Amino acid sequence: MEWITFATAAVNLTVAFMFLGARMFTRQSSFVSFTVAYALFAGGVGFFSLKEHSDGFVYIGNVTMLIGTLAAALGLSQRAPWLVAWRPVLALAMWGLLGNAASAILDDPYLRLVALYTSLGFIYLLVAHAGHRAKARFVVERLLVVTLYVVAFMLLSNPRLLVGIMPELVSMELVHLTWPAYAVVWIVLSQLVAGTTIALSMRDVIVKARKEAETDVLTGIANRRAFDRHITRSGRKGDRPALVMVDIDHFKQINDNLGHEEGDRCIAMGGQIVGKFAPDGCCAARLGGEEFAVIINDGGRDTASTVARAIHHAIRLSERPFDFTVSIGIAEGPRDVLYTRAAQALYADKSEGRNR
Ligand code: GH3
Ligand code: MG
Ligand code: MG
Repeated sequence: MEWITFATAAVNLTVAFMFLGARMFTRQSSFVSFTVAYALFAGGVGFFSLKEHSDGFVYIGNVTMLIGTLAAALGLSQRAPWLVAWRPVLALAMWGLLGNAASAILDDPYLRLVALYTSLGFIYLLVAHAGHRAKARFVVERLLVVTLYVVAFMLLSNPRLLVGIMPELVSMELVHLTWPAYAVVWIVLSQLVAGTTIALSMRDVIVKARKEAETDVLTGIANRRAFDRHITRSGRKGDRPALVMVDIDHFKQINDNLGHEEGDRCIAMGGQIVGKFAPDGCCAARLGGEEFAVIINDGGRDTASTVARAIHHAIRLSERPFDFTVSIGIAEGPRDVLYTRAAQALYADKSEGRNR
């Protein structure tokens, strides 16, 4: 086995195991496709290395690579999701398989190369195009799309391919001279695809986990953890941060008289209203129990009063089978005193008769 074949198979197998491990922890379905894809790439390279024994191994290697590429395309479309044009992709895969079969029957070694490179090249082109149309938002995602285009270009511009189509245009010398470079770049690029894909999928997982960790299940708005994170960040230079704190009045009685389920519904409704009236980009959170807060990033007490009035009004007008009211406290000031001041204002509102 040549060292380059051995290294390629080993690297692809390692990447396959990385995807398998990542799948176990994240349950992402795209990782199953990538595991299959990179295991098949490793297998394909392994079969190529056996070509001294029989030409048949090359055909098996080609087919293995083709199926691996389909699995990689599926994985890429599952992750983003990218809208891959599956019909042309499957037609190209068919062409790759039939071209290989014809090559075996006609005993024409270049036909199998032409079939493999054109089918893989155009499949990568279609997948890259799907990624391009999906409009990448992150640098890593853009890098992935560009890499896929380059892989497509490399496959379609390989001098070995031209030997099959227009032998008079390329010298065999050029082919022998360029193939190691093409092989190495191909290995590096397919690992770059793997690396960027893993990075992006990990990002998806982390973003989802963080969202879940910072969301209150009952109301769907932010929870205390998110509130704490936002409040330590509030009040950049020149901004006038403020805090609106909302507490449902006599909530214990709602629980006692109507049951906890009705109490939950009441909290959910309160949370949704608080979330609805939070200004754009401001954090609305359930602090716990029947207490909510909106962090006003800028605009101070004036904006806070407007938001407080809107919440109060909406709760009074909301349709529900039972009546409830809220008390509200607002405060303006630096972030380290906001919470204490708003809580004091809230209790002042409560002691002055609630629902005001
Ligand atoms: P006040 O008008 O002074 O605010 O009185 P209150 O009864 O609203 O306030 P208190 O703090 O005495 O009672 C809050 C109750 O909220 C006590 C607790 O059992 C209930 N509670 C806390 N979390 C939940 C929840 O998730 N669901 C339900 N149904 N009840 C909850
Ligand atoms: Mg209360
Ligand atoms: Mg309370």
